[in-house]
Amino acid sequence: ATRAKIAVAVGRGARVATESAMPSAIIGLGSNLGSREALLRAAIRVLDTHPGIEVVEQSRLYKSPALLPEGGAPQPDHLNAALRLEVALAPRALLTVMQRVEQRLGRERRERWGPRTLDLDLLHWSEGPVDEVGLTVPHPGLEARGFALAPLLDVAPELADRYASTLAALRPPLEVIPWAHAERT
Ligand code: ATP
Ligand code: CA
Ligand code: CA
Repeated sequence: ATRAKIAVAVGRGARVATESAMPSAIIGLGSNLGSREALLRAAIRVLDTHPGIEVVEQSRLYKSPALLPEGGAPQPDHLNAALRLEVALAPRALLTVMQRVEQRLGRERRERWGPRTLDLDLLHWSEGPVDEVGLTVPHPGLEARGFALAPLLDVAPELADRYASTLAALRPPLEVIPWAHAERT
């Protein structure tokens, strides 16, 4: 969805005011299976195509080692990023769209902690916390995960007061890699 499309969808005349009033979501993207960066890029494209979603900012790309269950086989590194979205949907409807994108891009539902082609998590919602069956925002794992916090802070500087010291204390093994070169590393 382009900026223009959303402006038309919500009515002409008050475009600037309307846009700043639009709820925003920060979502985390992760992949550690398959063509990882291409999957993240494809997810961004598909999300932006949705008429109720506009991708307004994209984080840097981060690489981190997979967390393995005890005795688990080695897995490829994770690639993670975050997006700021402007959203004309309720959080639950956004999550449903995100899950469809995961399915469409071939997420294999295996065991938790197993490798996955694409994981999309709703990290933060501008209108406040959400606590429903199957949807908790801020995402429950956020404060413990450097690979989620670092990209989140790239696109949500307004959350630095809340999370920057948490991220610093985690000192996660994260590497920033240039977009479009991930598969060569
Ligand atoms: P984690 O949630 O710890 O990152 P995961 O991403 O591997 O683990 P999934 O299998 O992708 O877990 O999702 C499990 C369930 O989490 C989903 O069915 C979804 O309903 C629920 N869920 C709750 N809150 C959120 C959220 N903020 N974003 C995404 N999924 C959520
Ligand atoms: Ca996750
Ligand atoms: Ca998830």
